[in-house]
Amino acid sequence: MEQTVEIKSKININPSRVGKKYYVKTFGCQMNVHDSEKIAGMFELDGMIKANSEDNADVLFINTCTIRENADDKLYGTLGQLKQWKSKQTDRKLLVGGCAAQKDKTLVRDRAPWVDVVLGTHNLTNIINLLNQSEDWGPLTEVVDEIEQMPTDAPSIRESESSAWLTIQIGCNNSCTFCIVPSVRGPEISRRPGDIINEAKLLVDTGVKEITLLGQNVNSYGRDLKIDNKSSPYFANLLRQLNEIDGLQRIRFTSPHPKDFKEETIFAVRDLDKVCNQIHVPLQSGSSKLLSKMHRGYNKERFIQKIDMIKSIIPDVSLTTDIIVGFPGETDEDFSDTMDIVNYAEFDSIYMFQFSPRPGTAAYDMEEDFVNKEMITKRFQYLKDKQTDISSRRLKRFIGTSQSVLIENTSKKSDNIFTGKINSGQITHIDKTGVSVGDLVNVNIVDSTPFYLKAEKI
Ligand code: SF4
Repeated sequence: MEQTVEIKSKININPSRVGKKYYVKTFGCQMNVHDSEKIAGMFELDGMIKANSEDNADVLFINTCTIRENADDKLYGTLGQLKQWKSKQTDRKLLVGGCAAQKDKTLVRDRAPWVDVVLGTHNLTNIINLLNQSEDWGPLTEVVDEIEQMPTDAPSIRESESSAWLTIQIGCNNSCTFCIVPSVRGPEISRRPGDIINEAKLLVDTGVKEITLLGQNVNSYGRDLKIDNKSSPYFANLLRQLNEIDGLQRIRFTSPHPKDFKEETIFAVRDLDKVCNQIHVPLQSGSSKLLSKMHRGYNKERFIQKIDMIKSIIPDVSLTTDIIVGFPGETDEDFSDTMDIVNYAEFDSIYMFQFSPRPGTAAYDMEEDFVNKEMITKRFQYLKDKQTDISSRRLKRFIGTSQSVLIENTSKKSDNIFTGKINSGQITHIDKTGVSVGDLVNVNIVDSTPFYLKAEKI
C-alpha cells in the first residue's frame, strides 16, 4: 500500500487524537462523495475512528457543494445549527471543505466563526496538518488556487466493499455558464494511467468488483498527459487497460461530455466485456440557442449526431442524460427543442434540474433573462411525466431476460428485499433469500415498475 505510506510521511499524527471519533457529512456530487472517502481515510490514518453520527463525534468534517439548489443557504444554515454542536463539548473540532469553501474562503469563518478549519478542494490531503495547526494556533482558513497534491494519493474508507469510485482526472477545462466547477476545481489534470491501473488492482485485491471512473469530463481524459501522440484515444486506451485486470467484473464511468465522445470510446464500451453497457450523455438543453449560451460546445444537430453514432454502434445501449429546465432565456420553443431530443433519444433515465442561479457562475448574472418560477415548475413536471412513461417502457424490454445483478443494499421499500444494478445500470430488486450484499447474482427479470426491475435468482 505505497499510497498510504506516502501520505502518512507527510502527516504529523497527533497522539492525543488517537481513538477520537470523526464524522464526515457530504453534500453534492460523486466527486464530493469520493473526496469524503479520502477524508475518512486520512482521519483513520491519524488514529481516529468513525462515529455513528455527528452527535457522538469529536471531529466533524462538512464537505460542501455549490451545485445544488440554495447550496449557500443550506451550508450556512447547517453551520448555524452546528454552533450548538460545538458548544456542547469544548474540544470538538469543526472543519469545512469542498467547493463552497473553495469559493467563499474567509467568508466561511466570517459567517461562522466557530468553524476551526476551512480548506479548499486543492489541499484536502493537508487536512490533518491543518487540524494540528488549528489545535496549536487557533482557527484558520487555508484555501489555495493550485493543486498541492492529487487527492487521489490519499487512502480511502469506502462505503461499499464491492463498488468503488476511482478518480482518473480532476478539474475541468470547459466553461459551462451554469457551473462553478472550473473556478473551484481548477483546470483538468489527468492521473497517470499506471497510477490508475495500480489503484484499480489494489481495489480488486480488497474485494472490489465494480469500479466507476470519476472525473468532471472523463472522456477527455489524458489530453494533458504527454504519453503518446496527440491522436491517441486516451480514454478508450485506459478502458482497454482496465479491462485486462483479473478479478475486476464491471467498469463504469462518469461524467463524460457529449462533445468529447469519440467512436473509439463507443467501440470500447461495445467490445470490452467488463465495461458496462451504459453511457451518460449530458444534454442540458435541446435548444441550440441555449446550448450556445451555456457554452456547451455543441448544438441540437451535433447532439443528435452523437446519439445516432452511439446507437449505430451499440443499438441496445442504455442512455442517460442531464437536463436543466428553465435556463435563462428559455422560451416554449427552446423547451420544445429539448422535448424533441427526449422523444428522439429515448433515454433510460434523466437527471432533471430546475435552473437556479448559483453565485460565482456566469448564468448568475443573466438576471434579465431569468424564467419565471411557475413556468419552470410547469415545464419540469411535463418533462418528468414524459420521461416516466419512456423509462417505464424502456424497463419492460428486460422482462424475460437473464441478467447479473450486483447487490448493493437493502431496499427502502422492504427489509426483505435487496436492491442492486444490472450491467446496464437499471435498479433491480430481489428477494434476500440466499443472497448477500456484494454478490454478483445471476437472475431472471420477471417484472418491472416505472422505476425499477424485479428479479428472481436463477
Ligand atoms: S463540463 Fe461544464 S458542467 Fe461539466 S464540470 Fe466542466 S464546466 Fe461544469
